[in-house]
Amino acid sequence: MRFATKAIHIGEEPDLREGGSGDVVIPIHMSSTFARREVDKPTGGYEYSRTGNPTRHALEKRLAVLENAKYGLAFASGLAAEATLAMSLLKNGDHVVAFDDLYGGTRRLFNQVISNFGLEFTYVDARNPINVEKAIQKNTRMFWLETPTNPLMKLCDIKAISEIGRERNILTVVDNTFMSPYFQNPLDLGADVALHSTTKYLGGHSDVVGGAIMLSNEELYRKLKFSQNAIGAVPSPFDCFLVLRGIKTLAIRMERHNFNAQKIAMYLESHPKVKKVNYPGLESHPQHELAKRQMSGFGGMLSFEIDGNLTDVKAFLKRVRIFALAESLGGVESLIEHPASMTHASIPQKEREKIGIKDNLIRISVGIEDIEDLTEDLTQALNKA
Ligand SMILES: *Cc1c(COP(=O)(O)O)cnc(C)c1O
Repeated sequence: MRFATKAIHIGEEPDLREGGSGDVVIPIHMSSTFARREVDKPTGGYEYSRTGNPTRHALEKRLAVLENAKYGLAFASGLAAEATLAMSLLKNGDHVVAFDDLYGGTRRLFNQVISNFGLEFTYVDARNPINVEKAIQKNTRMFWLETPTNPLMKLCDIKAISEIGRERNILTVVDNTFMSPYFQNPLDLGADVALHSTTKYLGGHSDVVGGAIMLSNEELYRKLKFSQNAIGAVPSPFDCFLVLRGIKTLAIRMERHNFNAQKIAMYLESHPKVKKVNYPGLESHPQHELAKRQMSGFGGMLSFEIDGNLTDVKAFLKRVRIFALAESLGGVESLIEHPASMTHASIPQKEREKIGIKDNLIRISVGIEDIEDLTEDLTQALNKA
């Protein structure tokens, strides 16, 4: 089976056995507990919904196949997945090398929560794998990557970095939220763990918060499965249903996100009031060759610099009508935001500027609306700028 077919069917095979319901869509199993016939044997394998739930189980099966993984685990949010992952695979005294342009919430989790437990983090510009290698210490246990990054769309070479890790027994974790499993599969490139905020493209409709971990190593899976239950940051059955439903249209949505984003990136690049566009699908992107090699599409996220100051940026953002001025990404609707005052406001200005997040930078999550409407909206807003 190919991707689009698996995304619709895996985990939701109708039960056609005698007495089976034949549901084409898996029911939302709200039961928190499951009755058994004998004290020592749960009927049907379920006992308590934190430990396991039929709707979540369907989602976890589907999550696994999307990343060509053996195992999938669902969580209450992307950050819940990250916290569970870090707490179960790392311990006091361990060191992690991470990309310096990580999702802000991930950095906050590392620096303000997990580092309290005696873990150390070093942030490097992972665009060059050598920087990752140089940061390795005796106690380094994990590489934590994100590619492309947010909002500057910097890439790192998953294959090259995973190889460095494998030689030294260091696990490589890739937050694959931005590309979705449709355009990039970290495990196929050698990474040990793929991670997603299902709030974004997998859910796809800005109506659910969730997270996922996919991997193939059985020993690591057992640890994570144990922690998923022991820590308990699990999604509700209704949330699982929403993500399952979202995933069914992932393939066609991603095609359209990609198509629209490429058009908008090219349009913006040619606009006199735009200074610079960051989109891996543009030939001007400094890592365009790597993008073509490790991704099968370029996704729906881009950022650009307006030729103007903060006042011009604010005026422009007020003028757009179809693009909603909002954080988050990956939904069917186009969103626009100002990283310096919204998603990345928690990073001190000096550090922001060091990474390249300037005051005139704008980020877009390109939706799947009609491309003509989107470009017309940008045109009217830019031309008055
Ligand atoms: C949103 C996001 C997260 C966090 O996920 P939540 O579902 O909001 O907890 C992590 N990584 C990336 C790249 C994200 O965009």
